[in-house]
Amino acid sequence: MNTPIHSIYAPWGRFGLYTFLIDGPEMALVDTGVTATVQGVADGLEKLGRDIKDVKWILLTHGHIDHLGGTVALWEMTGRQAKVVIHQDDVDYLQRRRAHVENYLNLRAHYIDDPEAEEKQTAMMEHAISGEMSPQIIVKGGEILDLGGVKVRVVHTPGHTSGSVAYVVEGQEDVFVGDAVQIHGAANGFPGYEDPDAYRKSLLALQELELNRMFLGHPFRSVAGEPYAVELDKETSAHVLTEALEIEARVRTAAQELGAAPSESLYSPYAAIAERLGYEGDPRLEPSPFFTTLHGYLS
Ligand SMILES: [Zn+2]
Repeated sequence: MNTPIHSIYAPWGRFGLYTFLIDGPEMALVDTGVTATVQGVADGLEKLGRDIKDVKWILLTHGHIDHLGGTVALWEMTGRQAKVVIHQDDVDYLQRRRAHVENYLNLRAHYIDDPEAEEKQTAMMEHAISGEMSPQIIVKGGEILDLGGVKVRVVHTPGHTSGSVAYVVEGQEDVFVGDAVQIHGAANGFPGYEDPDAYRKSLLALQELELNRMFLGHPFRSVAGEPYAVELDKETSAHVLTEALEIEARVRTAAQELGAAPSESLYSPYAAIAERLGYEGDPRLEPSPFFTTLHGYLS
């Protein structure tokens, strides 16, 4: 019999964040939202007749704040007995809030002219991340976690971040991909990944899996701008992976043909690329996937 999987939607500002529950003999949460959505996760569990105190595992798909920010608070609510799992390349984000600020300063800060950015980023991390901790389990990919008889395989899917992983529930081949499959991106309307080659390779690797259902980290959008549900059936999952690869190829071609050219544009130095791709979003809006992604192609 398949282990039930539930998505828990916790409202946050104009949007909301998703945490998933693998409802087996040892309950596992996949991703934790931010500080402000922790109570929403606990309430969501209660609605399902479950108690946060009984959660044994916290599986993090990657280190971004909207996936990891609630970890310490939720871990505390489990009585500190849940095992927190994260990939070695993103572990720094769990251990130090400052790592997120450094990531901003090393990359996006070069494109966005805001003298107060460091201060704002620091305040945001203080607010959105509920604490700093070391994980109980650091993974590299290839591990099989035993959740009381339910086996979960870790697949390294770098690109969006270098420590992104997918978790596959063995036997039923349901896979949690976090943000490793961006399609057309979320609210910002542009796919975000730090390493384009790794991103492409990870999408191809996901295509090779005989997956059943795919669970996305956000309602990412199609080329037409329509949000997908976060839970996709087999057929839609296959379609979404193809679409994500096509979009990546289009961005790659534009980046290679047009390159960087500083200008007065908000999109500088990638204004020509924005125009070719028809991208009209505000490139400065956090998490600024436009700059992160193009930096990956052209730096
Ligand atoms: Zn992310």
